[in-house]
Amino acid sequence: MAAAKQLLPTKNKSGFYEIRMESIGGLGANLAGKILAEAGVLGMGLNGVNFASYGSEKKGTPVKSFVRFSEPDFEIRSNSPVEEPHILVIFHEKMITTHVLTQGVGKDGIVIVNTSRTPDQMRDALRLYAGTVICVDAIRIAVEEKVKLNTTLLGTIAKASGFVDKDALKSAIAETFKKKYPQIIDANIRAFERGYSEFTGKTFAPDGRYEYVPFSRSVPDLGYENAPIGGVILNPGNSVQKDLSASRTGHIPLFIKDKCTSCGECEITCPDYCFVWESGVDKHGRPKRILLGIDYQFCKGCMKCVEICKFDALKKDIEASFDVGAITVKHREFALK
Ligand code: SF4
Ligand code: SF4
Repeated sequence: MAAAKQLLPTKNKSGFYEIRMESIGGLGANLAGKILAEAGVLGMGLNGVNFASYGSEKKGTPVKSFVRFSEPDFEIRSNSPVEEPHILVIFHEKMITTHVLTQGVGKDGIVIVNTSRTPDQMRDALRLYAGTVICVDAIRIAVEEKVKLNTTLLGTIAKASGFVDKDALKSAIAETFKKKYPQIIDANIRAFERGYSEFTGKTFAPDGRYEYVPFSRSVPDLGYENAPIGGVILNPGNSVQKDLSASRTGHIPLFIKDKCTSCGECEITCPDYCFVWESGVDKHGRPKRILLGIDYQFCKGCMKCVEICKFDALKKDIEASFDVGAITVKHREFALK
């Protein structure tokens, strides 16, 4: 009997092709994983599975979304995370400053990053041992097409994988949105097509510049066995770094100082204490708190401040048009060390 046709270009020793998406809650990695797995199973006849790992499942927390494929005649498994991905997808480049995301990526691995930087710059920023780095400015494409960036990244994944069927993936995208959001199908397909073609990539051989980083499971310092009885958690709900910039999806609130009356409405509305003030005087010489600007480290881009400001001193603008570091006014007391 003739051997069954092999659909996957390569497999690990367990017989799987694996993709790991590193993201922030709200950017759509979970949905991207689901769509990709559906395209593989329903559109291509592969065995496939998608599962995810996340914390409190709210916007702003780290999310890992896993996709695993096997040949149609090989049983799939979903009870272990993807440790050595064939493709690693980084949904927000800001994440690389706080997490080592390239764990388990070997010399044949592909790393897709949402960034406007070049593959050479990204390889150094990631300190990547070896492999192929693909850079796609997914957030710019998503803003231009008025969609989330996940469908753009799906386009890049399809092209980079060399085996994911483009039409199967487009059908899975359309199927996902058709019931509740049919009006956004066309824009998401456009974003997908742009992700499929608008990227740059480069392959790096192991050259000794950076070391291979094996996968390791993080173990929290405190758990049910060693947390002190009656202990107090001083920063509930906060990440260690308190850096929310990866939660933004392409837009920032832009502060226009000339129009600001320092009325304080934005301060009351902002859920994350982003506004930075100093003591000053009003035009009559009376003491007054003056708004200096925004500390974007804490800003998740919810735009509540823009909605509340009556004086047009805050406007929604495209983040990529600014050097956010240069326009940030730092909170002295909460600065990231
Ligand atoms: S709401 Fe507008 S005018 Fe008032 S302090 Fe904030 S930015 Fe200034
Ligand atoms: S968009 Fe405005 S209200 Fe929302 S977190 Fe940023 S500064 Fe605060």
